[in-house]
Order: sequence, then C-alpha cells, then structure tokens
Amino acid sequence: LTTFTDEAKIALDTLSGRATGLFSPSLRLGVTGLSRAGKTVFISAFVHNLLHGGRLPLFAAQKSGRIARAFLEEQPDDAVPRFQYEDHIAALVNDRLWPDSTRAISELRLTIEYESASGWSRMFSSGRLSVDIVDYPGEWLLDLPLLGKSYGDFSREAFEMAVLPVRVDLSQEWRALSAAVDPKADADEMTARRLAESFAAYLKACKLDERALSTLPPGRFLMPGDLEGSPALTFAPLPDLSERRARSGSLQAMMERRYEAYKTHVVKPFFREHITRLDRQIVLIDALQALNAGPGAMADLERAVTEILACFRPGRGNFLTDFFSRRIDRILVAATKADHLHHESHDRLQAIVRRLADRAVARANFTGAHVDVVALAAVRATREGTVKQGRETLPVIIGIPLKGERINGEAFDGKTETAIFPGDLPEKIDAVFDVSGPDHRQGVDDPAIRFVRFRPPKLERTAEGVTLSLPHIRLDRALQFLIGDHLA
Ligand code: GDP
Repeated sequence: LTTFTDEAKIALDTLSGRATGLFSPSLRLGVTGLSRAGKTVFISAFVHNLLHGGRLPLFAAQKSGRIARAFLEEQPDDAVPRFQYEDHIAALVNDRLWPDSTRAISELRLTIEYESASGWSRMFSSGRLSVDIVDYPGEWLLDLPLLGKSYGDFSREAFEMAVLPVRVDLSQEWRALSAAVDPKADADEMTARRLAESFAAYLKACKLDERALSTLPPGRFLMPGDLEGSPALTFAPLPDLSERRARSGSLQAMMERRYEAYKTHVVKPFFREHITRLDRQIVLIDALQALNAGPGAMADLERAVTEILACFRPGRGNFLTDFFSRRIDRILVAATKADHLHHESHDRLQAIVRRLADRAVARANFTGAHVDVVALAAVRATREGTVKQGRETLPVIIGIPLKGERINGEAFDGKTETAIFPGDLPEKIDAVFDVSGPDHRQGVDDPAIRFVRFRPPKLERTAEGVTLSLPHIRLDRALQFLIGDHLA
C-alpha cells in the first residue's frame, strides 16, 4: 500500500508540476557523469555565462540579443540541497581554484526572460523559462539496473567483472576475503562489515587515476551521500551461492536482506523522485582520462554510458510512472576538458565520443530521445600557441599547470605559465576501442595525451574595465541543444 501511495503521490506531483508549467514554463535539466567528470564546473560555467552575457555565438537566443535577463530564483524543491553556485564561482573566479566536486544531489533554478523569435510565439508564450538544473552523481544512476537483479544475479556479475583483466589485481584482496567466508554460516556483523569495506576499497581503487575505470554498482559505496555507515550500505556480493533460498539467520540471508533494503530505500526513491521528473539530460564523460588509460578503460566507459542511457529508456514497466512522468526528449553526451587538447584535435575527440555514444545507443537498444554528442570545455584553462622544434612547428597549449603536476618527471610550481605539446588523439578510431590488443593497459606507459591539470583562467577585462564571463569551448553548442528550442 505504501508503495502505491508513494507512486500515486509522485505521479500527481508530476502532473501538477506540468499543469503549473503551463503558466510559468520550466525545464528540468539533469546534469550527471561519474565523479570528477566535470559536473560542478559545467553547471557553474553554464550559469555564469548566462548571468553575465557570455560569448555564446552558437546559442541562438543570446546571439540574436533576445535574452532580456537571466537570474537565479528560489528552487522548487525545498528538500533538495541547493547547488552552491556562489561558492563555486568564488573559488573559480576569485581564487582561481577548482571548486569542490559533486558529492550528492543538488538543485538550482535559473530563470531566463527572453523575446521569442517569431511574432506568433510572442503572442502565446510568456517569454520566461525557468531551468531547474539538477546535479547528481552518475554513480547513483548506475544503480538502477540493480532493480531488475536478484542478490544472486548481483553477486554472480560482481565476481565475473572482478576477474576481468583490468580489474583482477585490484579485486584480489576482496576475492580472497570472500573465498574464506561461508555464506551458510551464522550472520555476523563484523564479517559483513569487513566484506563491505573490502569490496568498497576495491571499487574505489578502480577509479584511481591511471586505471580510470568507470564504476560498478552499488554507487553509494563510492558516493554515499548521507548514508555513510548505514546498514543499507553494509553488504557485499558473496561467491558461489549454491543455495537459492538462504537459511534464515545465515550470512547470505543477512546480505540478501540488506541488498534488497538498498534497492527499496535508496535506489527506488532516487529514481522516482528525481530521474522520472527530468526533461533533458547531459551526461559528462572524461574521455581523455579513459583514452590515456587504454582500450580496457574505454570499453568500461562505454559500458557505463550504455547503462546510463538504459536508465533513460522510456517504459520501465511501472504503469504509474510510465503514464504520468515527463519523458526525456534530449540527451547530450559531452566529453569535457577539451581545453587539454589543441583545437585540431577537438573534432577527433568528438568523433570518438560519437562512436562511443552510437555503440552505447545500439547496445542499450535505446529509443525515445534524441542523443547528440559534443567535445567541450566548460571552463577553458588554456590558450593555444605554436612552438618551433628544429624544423617542425608544433601546436601547443599554454596554461599554468597546478602545483605538483608533472610531465616526464618535471614538477610544476603552480605559478608559471607553461607551453605543453598535448599530443594527438589516435587517428584510427577503431584502435581506441580494440580491447583485443596485446596489453590492455598499453596506454599507461605510453599515454596518447600529455595530461596535466591547469589552474582556472584569469578572467579578461574589456577596454572599459568590464570583466568578461568564464571562457569555454563549445559550451554554447551544449546550451543550444539543451535549452535553445525552448527560447525560440
Ligand atoms: P564533478 O565530480 O563531476 O563535479 O567534477 P568537477 O566539476 O569538480 O571537475 C573535476 C575536475 O576536473 C576539476 O577540479 C578540474 O580539475 C577538472 N575540470 C572539470 N571541468 C574542466 C574544464 O572544463 N576544463 C579543465 N581544464 N578542467 C576541468
């Protein structure tokens, strides 16, 4: 009964949201991506450029001067934390430091007053659009497939993934610990905790920089939000589960119950309360990191994007949410941090992401929304130049590498502007995805791209002393795709 009431309530809320939407149109834009993909930076730059009239030639409403005003308003959901835009901008602009990354869900309402392009639309539209930006960890989204999986399926798949070449060494300690326990033995809190901690440590190790693997569920093991240490997170897969029905009081029964609790109390509410209400979605990916780590990491990223897209596939078999919920009609898969490459490589990066997204769309059997891709830098921390080396002229990027970053053993001091030849992306796209190559981690020893983190840029001033908004690469193209048609 509770489930039914919850669902009916959410359906009604959604419906009434739509009804009021007739008077004050709003668009809910989901921003997701795995941790450190660039969600916080993207939202900060998105809002800053709209509030401060940024240079956005590909964003039609801005280019044609039809945006009268953009401002922040109180968000519609009181129970969701606010996206702390002001703190993030203070870090980026005043301190020239990267802001704190996304750790949980947050929301921000940006309202745009505009003039419609056609006289016809001017007559019928209010000339006002509220964009509700919803920022949430992609790790949480990757949990949704768990809803269709029993504890037995979850355990079996976790062990299958753990012995793949890219993960086998990282998972070794956890697998050894698991092999030493008997699922049929009496349930024991300390055993459960040790297994859960060891499993979480393995999942975290997969994320480490040079391995750059995308994540495996459960997502809250990596991004616990406010659930850190709760019983719903104190479980782990168990190996070789021969018993379909666990004996009551056994370790297996305890783990199974907690796994089901995780689905009921964590995964389902998140999906119902947040995901089903989105209209548009941008999925940010750090393709450069994965490219550098080799085809194994690319395959892993592709798997993550496939699972993410599958979450947005309409018709998940729940009649209330299917019937009433809004439908996502546009999804943008965006490779971030393109300012780490010379512009000659931007199209190549975009082509790689297009291939990745196409494969993911096919694998997820995805229909229902228009999926596009872009290679962008929400904040451009570098400029371009050339350096002569013998007879060759090399295209370089110039910026201030963060303190402690290194290339070829040289450590940077965090103050000096440095020219870096970033390297070229592979010309043959197939090679990027070919996991059958001799060494799955060949990219680690011979990275395709020299990747150092740069300090955020100093904002330019015009001759009149006006500070310009944050520089970017193709952020305007993303804005046009995500909200442009609502401002037509
Ligand atoms: P989140 O975990 O998805 O919220 O990731 P963040 O937005 O915090 O970004 C993680 C890190 O990636 C930042 O601290 C920056 O170092 C880097 N980053 C993100 N976006 C950009 C970008 O557009 N350009 C550059 N150069 N670095 C970026």
